[in-house]
Amino acid sequence: MDDSKQGSKKGPPQVELPPSITVKQLADLLKAEPTRVIKQLMRRGMMANVNQSIDFATASATAADFGYDAKAAKDRKAAPSRKEKGKGKGKLPVRPPVVTVMGHVDHGKTTLLDVIRKTNVTAREAGAITQHIGAYQALVNERKITFLDTPGHEAFTAMRARGTQVTDIVTLVVAADDGVMPQTIEAIDHAKAAKVPIVVALNKTDKADANPERVKQQLVDLGLVIEEWGGDTVCVPISAKQGKGISDLLENLFLVADILELKADPDSAAEGVIIEAKLDKTKGPLATLLVQKGTLKRGDVVAAGSAWGKIKAMFDDTGKRVHKAEPSAPVEVLGLNEVATAGDHFIVLPDEREARSIVEKQKYPRPRLTLSLSTLSSQISEGRIKELNIVLKTDVEGSIEPIKNSIEKLGTEKTKARVIHTASGSITESDVLLASASNGIIIGFNTPTSPGTTQLADAEGVSIQHYDVIYKLIEDVDKALKGMLEPTYAEVLSGRGEVRAVFPRGKMGKVAGVYVVEGRISRDAQVKVLRQNKVIGSSRISSLKRFKEDVAEVSAGLECGLGVEGTIDFQIGDIIESYRRERIS
Ligand code: GDP
Repeated sequence: MDDSKQGSKKGPPQVELPPSITVKQLADLLKAEPTRVIKQLMRRGMMANVNQSIDFATASATAADFGYDAKAAKDRKAAPSRKEKGKGKGKLPVRPPVVTVMGHVDHGKTTLLDVIRKTNVTAREAGAITQHIGAYQALVNERKITFLDTPGHEAFTAMRARGTQVTDIVTLVVAADDGVMPQTIEAIDHAKAAKVPIVVALNKTDKADANPERVKQQLVDLGLVIEEWGGDTVCVPISAKQGKGISDLLENLFLVADILELKADPDSAAEGVIIEAKLDKTKGPLATLLVQKGTLKRGDVVAAGSAWGKIKAMFDDTGKRVHKAEPSAPVEVLGLNEVATAGDHFIVLPDEREARSIVEKQKYPRPRLTLSLSTLSSQISEGRIKELNIVLKTDVEGSIEPIKNSIEKLGTEKTKARVIHTASGSITESDVLLASASNGIIIGFNTPTSPGTTQLADAEGVSIQHYDVIYKLIEDVDKALKGMLEPTYAEVLSGRGEVRAVFPRGKMGKVAGVYVVEGRISRDAQVKVLRQNKVIGSSRISSLKRFKEDVAEVSAGLECGLGVEGTIDFQIGDIIESYRRERIS
């Protein structure tokens, strides 16, 4: 059913939100208790504490849950930007950078991670065996640097799709003999979409057919202009196999980290991200946690997704038992009640009771509104979204440029479309994750979706739109950008009731005394009246009362008086079905 009219009701209250806002600030704006906001965020699958910053998309969705209509604030005063935050945190200690290694298969990611680990991770205890815990810290000239051990952009973007960004810097490994390959381009696009700086490790320079100059040119063509050519992308020639250039690479990673001014308060309650989790036959559930803020201590009670527990023991990346973990440190912990989910945020809570009550609420599925051209269209028309992120997949290389160019010419002064990744070939899970993490959509031109990808897209709430005519594709994007694309709604049954009494209302028709049998009937619902299984009328509710008081909704087990717009000749025994209109595209 196509309909964009919202009825003649007065619109919901408005709230202006900055690009990023703390939970506390949001609660103040919504005039709600911070705990209620935290609980609502949990229902959306996000663990957050009062001081945590959340992005605009999450904040506006939460505001909508509280009945507000959120708009992007014009000034950014309410929440400090990253830079300002850096200044404000001037006195905070520097934390080690967290690095993810990306690149095309066989270009040397694993070899690079191994060589750094071997040469720079001191076994802090005699006989300690380096174990695999998903991340490790290297020590270089007394400075620590954390590497996430699962190389590749898929893991990186999967985390972002879950709302967590742990990586500060991406090391892009490009083999100097092979040059830029499809996954190199994917990695660049994924890093760019996350706004994470890239340091290029030009690998395999020991090989006879290595051609570094060619690779640099290829990188420039992709928008990564290296420093020696006047750009700002650091590019370090290395040979991971021979261990050459590694210290130079590490030094450059620290330089970039210094520019980023990475700081964290080690004294606050710890929070961070689950990097990896598994079930050990003898030890029980094990999880690797990366601390992002605060100091995690043995005995702390943590909650992450649906897992919680008191930390019984902690081990560092060399397998050594430790009692605390500071910002950017990865640790393996024992004591969670179940296998946690990688990518979930963790927080420390005062006691086990609170942790348990918080995770109980996580058990409900999180509602996700699928983003599509038409939902984005209405968000654009309401000023919530300024940029439409698109992953474009086509059947042949040749279609990419013309479509991309046409799309990027569209838009108004305020809203633009940004094609964040293009490639020929079918639509893959990696595309879905990128779109999900970037709040964007996927457009396929004459190209199919790979098996299994549709399910992931559904789970992530990512819309895949297929076109076989360029003109139609461009027209839809154009309309979406102008906020003109009509959303599609579906009617979802929300409650059912039985008419148990009928009261005449003179000229106004009849009011039905209804007993709600299941679900709930809400004031703004559309209702259908059924008699002997046939629909005898449908209308909007004009009044909904309990004991003469107007109410917003009535739940199962309760009675109410229900009037509708227009007249419906209610009879005792009629069934009332109430429908909620849900946007499906
Ligand atoms: P990944 O798929 O990106 O993790 O790549 P690997 O680290 O598994 O490396 C793929 C292959 O390239 C392996 O046979 C490595 O030994 C080899 N390799 C990695 N780095 C270098 C290098 O610097 N020089 C040479 N000659 N070979 C390398």
